[in-house]
Amino acid sequence: MFRLMVVTAHPDDEAGNFGGTLRHYHEYGAATSVICLTPGQAATNRGGARNDQELAAMRRKEFASACELLKVSQGVVLDYPDGKLHCLDAYRVVNELTLHIRQFRPQVVATFGPEGGLTAHTDHSLAGVFATLAFHWAGRSNRYPDQLKENLAPYSPQKLYYSTANTTLSGRPPIIHAPITAAVDVAPQLEAKLAAFKAHTSQNPLFPILEEHVRKHGRHEYYHLVASARPAPHAPETDLFEGVEGDL
Ligand SMILES: [Zn+2]
Repeated sequence: MFRLMVVTAHPDDEAGNFGGTLRHYHEYGAATSVICLTPGQAATNRGGARNDQELAAMRRKEFASACELLKVSQGVVLDYPDGKLHCLDAYRVVNELTLHIRQFRPQVVATFGPEGGLTAHTDHSLAGVFATLAFHWAGRSNRYPDQLKENLAPYSPQKLYYSTANTTLSGRPPIIHAPITAAVDVAPQLEAKLAAFKAHTSQNPLFPILEEHVRKHGRHEYYHLVASARPAPHAPETDLFEGVEGDL
């Protein structure tokens, strides 16, 4: 069995950044998990919500619909504050992500790089940093040993990827992307990805921009291999599970 975990910051990141990959690996037979750190309550587009709580509730439902379209096996929205991930106690957030890694046991973890993805959102940067620490710490028995009392064992995923790109969004400050080391062909999953993004109805002012971008640049989703249990040099990849050992 192969398992992929994606760690994001906001409902809609799973579709906009990782949607093709999530659907692709479902079709490939892998179990997929998305851990989204915030319910997106600070979004500019508010879908008629009267307050942050209403928007959070709305966006949790939208996330569930998007995960259904992407055939995600386990979609979880945590309750950290949107727009404020940089204010949190990192050790506490990584504790929760480490628990999810030890429970779901993904061989491959994908998240944002510290640049924050195409939009360079600070929450994306922090989600990537927290996920990176959890990736490295989940396998160590001296990290969060309290979790290990409840039938959980230390667990090391085999590969960590950052989402990256070969383009930038026009009119935004420059971003320096991590080099592309893996290109996943998601052309067959493009319509499912767009449908999943459009499940986020509160964000509908973003639909035309995203759709134009995805139709122009979206045949592949690009990644940068950050860590690998195989120490040898890696050739460019088209499959995030290349060289990965599955289990029963
Ligand atoms: Zn986001």
